[in-house]
Amino acid sequence: MDAPVDAARAAVPPVQPPRGGTPYPLVAREARGGDAAVHVRGVAIGGDAVQVIAGPCSVETESQMRAAAAAVAAGGAAMMRGGAFKPRTSPYAFQGAGPDGLTLLTAAAMRHGLPVVTELTDVRMLDAFLRAGVDAIQVGTRNMQNYDLLKELGRVDVPVVLKRGMSATIAEWLLAAEYVAAGGNRRIVLCERGIRTFETAYRNVLDVTAIPVAKRETHLPVIVDPSHAGGKAWLVPALAAAAVAAGADGLLIEVHPVPAQAWCDAEQALTPGEFAALMRTLRAVAAATGRSLGGDRVAATAQREDIPSGCAQPGPGGSRAPRMRARASDIRDAVR
Ligand code: PEP
Ligand code: MN
Repeated sequence: MDAPVDAARAAVPPVQPPRGGTPYPLVAREARGGDAAVHVRGVAIGGDAVQVIAGPCSVETESQMRAAAAAVAAGGAAMMRGGAFKPRTSPYAFQGAGPDGLTLLTAAAMRHGLPVVTELTDVRMLDAFLRAGVDAIQVGTRNMQNYDLLKELGRVDVPVVLKRGMSATIAEWLLAAEYVAAGGNRRIVLCERGIRTFETAYRNVLDVTAIPVAKRETHLPVIVDPSHAGGKAWLVPALAAAAVAAGADGLLIEVHPVPAQAWCDAEQALTPGEFAALMRTLRAVAAATGRSLGGDRVAATAQREDIPSGCAQPGPGGSRAPRMRARASDIRDAVR
């Protein structure tokens, strides 16, 4: 018996499970009555425009970041990516440039007016991210179920890009988003990045089906990372086009000035020229689904608000609230 510990435990009230039907009441689609956009320093993710976020897997050097920022801006990206803290499978692989990398990323992106997203792997680094002025914080596939990290991100007013765990069900993914929302931060973007299956011919299987399913189930925007899904540069255009055709609100694409020299994920990075060509294709795919590509800037005053776009325009998934509620039970009933 440990009296102080027992007393402290008794003082913490048990968390009340949500009443009613849904295990994730805050991110459930009916909580907003339709799609909601998340604004990242003037870029609306989840509106009529498909937003492309591009940049290298990892921040390496100042010259690499300057060249990468120029390339993604020239190609028409709305935001820039780049990891300064890398969750690598091997402890001997490059682990990221650390806090200096955050500075290199924000400085390079700022030259072109691009907001940035970068991955937070350790809750102890959150203050450094906030000090560096990171515009959106990425939770990687390996951390989707790091609930303490999710709780801390619930307490900040910075958009969170929540990647799907590589073996997570859609319900688990939405419950991870609910952790962030339950802390008070509703500015969440879901990111499908491929799941593990029995297939070994490519890095992961892009779960295209998850796009309309997630959009039917939640009001949160859903973006897709075709780079980590395919794991090969030549696969990225096909997967990116499929994602936009299936209704994705945006893409997260790895682009490196010289992919062969990349310190991380060299095989899947597009060259600047390949990226520019892909953007031209995506513009046509977006237009075919009644949307546009990027450039969706909003007035500075609206930047910190989520704007529900209402139910007037069902997405490509054809969501309509009553049918959605009736059919959502498969996912929600599976939650334990
Ligand atoms: C990344 O985007 O750099 C990354 C590590 O992705 P994931 O968490 O999807 O593997
Ligand atoms: Mn990568």
